[in-house]
Amino acid sequence: MFTFRQWKEFCEEVISHQNDRASFSRADELLIDNSLSPKIVIKHDVEANIDLAKKTAEIESDLGIRSTYYVHSFFLDSKDDADTLRYIQSLGHEIGYHYDVLDIYDGNYDEAEKAFANDLKRFEREGIKVSTICPHGNPLKKRDGWNSNKDFFKDSSIRSRFSHLFDIVNDIKVTKYENNSYISDAGYQLKLIGNVRDNDKKGVLGDKVIGKEELLDILNSSELTIISVHTHRLSNKYLDLFFKKKLFFTARIVATKLRRVPVFSLLMNKMFTLSKRF
Ligand SMILES: [Zn+2]
Repeated sequence: MFTFRQWKEFCEEVISHQNDRASFSRADELLIDNSLSPKIVIKHDVEANIDLAKKTAEIESDLGIRSTYYVHSFFLDSKDDADTLRYIQSLGHEIGYHYDVLDIYDGNYDEAEKAFANDLKRFEREGIKVSTICPHGNPLKKRDGWNSNKDFFKDSSIRSRFSHLFDIVNDIKVTKYENNSYISDAGYQLKLIGNVRDNDKKGVLGDKVIGKEELLDILNSSELTIISVHTHRLSNKYLDLFFKKKLFFTARIVATKLRRVPVFSLLMNKMFTLSKRF
């Protein structure tokens, strides 16, 4: 989607714009800030590459931007990766939990909740304060009885047991920001997401590919604009980005075709975590 240089330029453009109207906020600050001034939240889903997240965090920190990094709990298995998360946090960014427990436990809410609670404790033990969370997609996962990981935090009893957490996808409508816009780099294009909470269901409002001018219009008109970018898709060089994009689109075409063959569909379901690499 972006090289690091392009991301820096993009941030600089948003900064020059925000001086006119809106200010940057981390996701956790939306809950504690009582002013109703327009806000821009940059959030990142980190997926499988923490080094690219670290580089992004440094670029943003140099520009004076504090953003929110949603990370999977498997990074806590490595001391080096946990150190990197604490380093990103020390730059002023927020570390949030990118959860996919409902997919991992095949729709078993009890098992998913135990793992979720355990992961929160692990983050805490590592000195990482999780206040906000974000569901992960897993496009290869076969599901029967749940639409996506979003359903985990839509469950009212689970929601009530974690009332101190804010889900940037599920809870956005309950903030004071009724007029909000969610922009994502889904599919390597900037898109205005029609209904971020329910777009895992059929028949909901579609997404719209947007350009820079439209983005600036959105920043002008929304009380809250969330810009969601996957750090594992950022690249050092334009050529790397070109090949990443090619690999992503080829993998998507192959996966769509193979899914129609039952044996491959089952195999892909078993290997659903692989999509975190693309
Ligand atoms: Zn994700």
